[in-house]
Amino acid sequence: MRKTSFILLIYFSLTKLSADESYRYFVNLNKVINDKVSVLLITPNINQEVVDFCFPSMVPGTYEIYDFGRFISNLNVLGKNKTKIKIVKIDKNTYRLSPASQIEKITYDVDDTWDECNLKDTKEKIIFEPGGTNFEKGKNFSINTHSMFGYFKGYSNRDFILEFEKPKDFFPSTGLNNINIGINKDVISVFDYHDLVDSPIMYFIPDTATIKIAKTNVLVSCYSPNKKITAKFISETLKELLIAQKDYLGGELPVEKYAFLFYFMSGSSLSGSSGALEHSYSSFYVLPEYDSLSMQQQLRDVAAHEFFHIVTPLNIHAKEIGDFDFNNPQMSEHLWLYEGMTEYAAHHAQAKSKIIDIDQLLNTMMQKYQTSIKEYNDTMSFTYMSKHVLEEKIHKQYNNVYEKGAVIGMCLDILLRDLSEGKYGTQNLMKDLSLKYGKNKSFNDSELFKDIENLTFPEIGSFLKKHVGGTIPLPMSEILSKIGLEFSKENFNYEFSIGNPDFNYNEKTKRLYVESLYNIDDFGIDLNYMIGDELLKINGKSLEVEKIKETLTDYYASIKEGDKVIIEILRPEKNNKNYKTIELTAIAKKIKVTRENQINLIKNLTAKQTQTLKAWTGLEIGN
Ligand SMILES: [Zn+2]
Repeated sequence: MRKTSFILLIYFSLTKLSADESYRYFVNLNKVINDKVSVLLITPNINQEVVDFCFPSMVPGTYEIYDFGRFISNLNVLGKNKTKIKIVKIDKNTYRLSPASQIEKITYDVDDTWDECNLKDTKEKIIFEPGGTNFEKGKNFSINTHSMFGYFKGYSNRDFILEFEKPKDFFPSTGLNNINIGINKDVISVFDYHDLVDSPIMYFIPDTATIKIAKTNVLVSCYSPNKKITAKFISETLKELLIAQKDYLGGELPVEKYAFLFYFMSGSSLSGSSGALEHSYSSFYVLPEYDSLSMQQQLRDVAAHEFFHIVTPLNIHAKEIGDFDFNNPQMSEHLWLYEGMTEYAAHHAQAKSKIIDIDQLLNTMMQKYQTSIKEYNDTMSFTYMSKHVLEEKIHKQYNNVYEKGAVIGMCLDILLRDLSEGKYGTQNLMKDLSLKYGKNKSFNDSELFKDIENLTFPEIGSFLKKHVGGTIPLPMSEILSKIGLEFSKENFNYEFSIGNPDFNYNEKTKRLYVESLYNIDDFGIDLNYMIGDELLKINGKSLEVEKIKETLTDYYASIKEGDKVIIEILRPEKNNKNYKTIELTAIAKKIKVTRENQINLIKNLTAKQTQTLKAWTGLEIGN
């Protein structure tokens, strides 16, 4: 027992020495009890009588109130010399403490956000996994620091020193620089609470790779429980992409170090979504664990998007983001810029560097346009939506930032190329805006359109006012004609199909099944699908989810009118427990398909159209 008290003595003397201005957090990752981790905070000195200890209600990049305080329990505060500290919980995230000047330590338990937990209120809103935290004892700790560590209101500009005791062979992957790695313990220091929130940390037995792009060291960290994807594969995929992004940004990446943290999930996620969240020096991904080749383009698209956030909002942002208030967040009007322009650039850069071809870029953009007018309100002002995005009735429009937001980016780029004789595009505009502003200089929401107009043309100002700030739909036909594309609202075509029933995914069997016959076409009627049928093969080739894209591409490339088509399915028997294998057969025939929002390249482009098209694609165009 002496041993214990000896260690405690050293412990106290150490903490006494350092407890002053900084926050010192202690976490033991070896101890996970009921999916919870205990946290000890040696607090900085507080020079006031009452203070609020807060967990964020929202963090940048999520555009949704998550109330991370919901995952905290058992909070105790210890006073200096045994002074009793009064604790009043004033909302889901905030503990009001007094006398604050006497606070010495705080202890609490944190539950992770990735699994269901039985704490009050945690079920009412599921946190999108890339913004949350995962504790998997002995396997993986994906830590979004804001869901584990709190701050005192008015004291966020202090050093945060995190000490992690860790399982054997575990290493932290993060974009942070100030790390002391030990055998059983690591110490990570961060400049202030904003930097802390900006820095997810993933602990596991590492599978990592590094890439050097120009002057930037890039870390790729990959947790794939069934080893389907490796850091090596991702780094090879991302290397080509990052070179394209470097070229797109003018030859250099604007950071010295960057970390891509990937968690691949073998089942489905609690939120039902997958994706990523961006930070200044890292991005954190939670994606399904499929076979690596089938994931490759998705990896490129999502990584390109997150990485381009280093341009905006990280280097071009409004005051609402620059001075982000974690517990009373204010929204900026310009989500079209932060998310839309980023999404557009992620695809445009891939086309400019020939990772994808221009047809793919245009297809993606037209699909986005189609989704935006089908699923969202096309006459709601984008700046209004952005400003009010936290309100429940407006939040439904949020995902349109990735659809219409990206199309706004493309329209703006084409218009700029047209007005500047091909010399100036959104790449130049974003560069000019980040020079004018930057990481530590925010713009005023109400002045951004004027700023952009001053850097470019009056026509750009009026485009933004009408179609981004205003309620007038995008002038697609007019803009696409500037690069020689004819836009039609609706046309007909005759195409092959696989019958067009509505499919859904069966989690248990991992197969697609027929959910409804509502949209079935004549070929589907010939095949005689029934609700519940699960897809196995088409003409002997697998229709498993991971192979379906490849199989169907081959099918459409080789099928001819009059061919016999065999679709092998599993049909559930009456007891719904067993399945019977059945071959559905029909003779291939083309089905009349109505397509909306289609584009076609005009045959004889004018010199002006050729110039704009060439400048926009960055490629030589044969006429
Ligand atoms: Zn984004």
